[in-house]
Amino acid sequence: MKQLSAATVRPLSNSQIITSVTSVVKELIENSLDAGATSIDVRLENYGFDKIEVQDNGEGIKAVDVPVMAIDSHEDLRNLATYGFQGEALGSICSVAEVLITTRTADDDFSTQYVLDDSGHILSQKPSHLGQGKTVTALKLFKNLPVRKQFYSTAKKCKDELKKIQALLTSYGILKHDVRIVFVHNKDTVRRCHLRTRKSFPELLG
Ligand code: ADP
Ligand code: MG
Repeated sequence: MKQLSAATVRPLSNSQIITSVTSVVKELIENSLDAGATSIDVRLENYGFDKIEVQDNGEGIKAVDVPVMAIDSHEDLRNLATYGFQGEALGSICSVAEVLITTRTADDDFSTQYVLDDSGHILSQKPSHLGQGKTVTALKLFKNLPVRKQFYSTAKKCKDELKKIQALLTSYGILKHDVRIVFVHNKDTVRRCHLRTRKSFPELLG
C-alpha cells in the first residue's frame, strides 16, 4: 500500500463519517480517482438504500493490501503508524452497510470478491469475473441506524439526495476532464458523462 500522498490526505473535518448516500458515493469516487480510474460507474438501487455500487477501472488493490484496506486504523496502532488515516472511509462504510469489494490488479489472473464484516475484516472471498479495477458494493445502508434511515422517509428527501449525488458527479466530471462517469439509478441512466467530448445527456430525474 502506498504512503499517504498529499492528494489523499484530507482535512480531518472531512473525516469519513458516513452520514448519507452522497457521502458514501463521494468517498468511493475519491478512492477510484486516487486509483487512477478513467472510467467510473455509479449504480444505486432504491436511492442507494438497497444498493450503492461504484465500479472503476483503476489499479485495483494488491492481494497483500486487501486485509488492511477497510480496517479502522484506530483499532490497531501498528496500522495507525503505517497507514495514517487510510482505511477510514471504507471502514466507516462497513460499519453502516454490508460491504463487498471486488478487485483485480494488472498482476492478477482474475478478480476476487471479498465480503467484509462491520469492522472491515474479511469474512469470505471467492473468485469472480470482473476486469482490472475495483468494485465496491454497499448493501442495506443504515439498516442498523433506523434514525438515520428515517430521515429519508419521504420521496422528496430521496430525490433531493439523488440530485446531490448528480451535482457531486458533475463537479468531479468538471475537475477530471478525462474521466468517464456514468450514474444509474434503478437501471435508469440518470447521467452519462463523457467529459472528454464535453457531452452530457439530459437529466432523467423525475
Ligand atoms: P483512504 O482513501 O483515506 O486511503 P479509504 O478507506 O478510502 O482510505 O481506502 C483505503 C485504501 O484502500 C486506500 O488507501 C487504497 O489503498 C485502497 N483503495 C480504496 N479504494 C480503492 C480503489 N477504488 N482502487 C484501488 N485501491 C483502493
Ligand atoms: Mg478514500
